[in-house]
Amino acid sequence: MKQAHFRFYAELNDLLPADKRQVTFMHPFPNRVSVKDMTEALGVPHTEVDLILVNGESVDFSYRVQDGDRISVYPVFESIDITPLVRLRPQPLREPRFVLDTHLGRLSRYLRMLGFDTLYRNDYADEELAQISSDERRILLTRDPGLLKRSVVTHGHWIRESDPQRQVRQVLQRFDLFGVIAPFARCLRCNALLQPVRKQDVLDRLPPMTKEVYDEFHICSECGRVYWKGTHYRRMQQLIERLRQREPTG
Ligand SMILES: [Zn+2]
Repeated sequence: MKQAHFRFYAELNDLLPADKRQVTFMHPFPNRVSVKDMTEALGVPHTEVDLILVNGESVDFSYRVQDGDRISVYPVFESIDITPLVRLRPQPLREPRFVLDTHLGRLSRYLRMLGFDTLYRNDYADEELAQISSDERRILLTRDPGLLKRSVVTHGHWIRESDPQRQVRQVLQRFDLFGVIAPFARCLRCNALLQPVRKQDVLDRLPPMTKEVYDEFHICSECGRVYWKGTHYRRMQQLIERLRQREPTG
């Protein structure tokens, strides 16, 4: 059986079996196999990979692995400029839009809170998620790396964190979104855009205290939910400040 040397870098190691992390290892392969198929068979979805070097040269996903190849697999680079090399992923989507798997309900609310177009339902099937991501050109966020191995998915990201606030930070960093946060532009419940509304037009739907204290209101263009800058708003503002500081939440 033919064999190739593999080394995965940085956070890609999280997706590998323990004995293959942070080391160069030999892996056998059948006669004709692409570097993409081999990488995914080892556990790393193509959406997580930004650069593959074979014997020091960058290759694309269709490269056919040869006996004795030395293969280095890199994740998305935050700071290193690799433009002279071949980037594997398609061009970044101009406007970041998301579709989330059923485990990411809290994350979906956070992303909407930050103004990002985020589809989420607690009953989406895997098939459906992959299709929506492809048809609507949405970035698929999921806790399941297997979902990202579907070839129809071109833009996706495996959410490694389990804490929702850490998840938001992970997404903001991965897609470099700190500069485009637009808080309180979207309905947390249904994702539609909010618009200003006159107090007199929503008066009968406000709790008594709210009527007295607040004068500025927004309404969801889709589900009609009314928003104002109450306690909840201030808590969210504090969270946004923390997220913007780009430091670990602790
Ligand atoms: Zn709504």
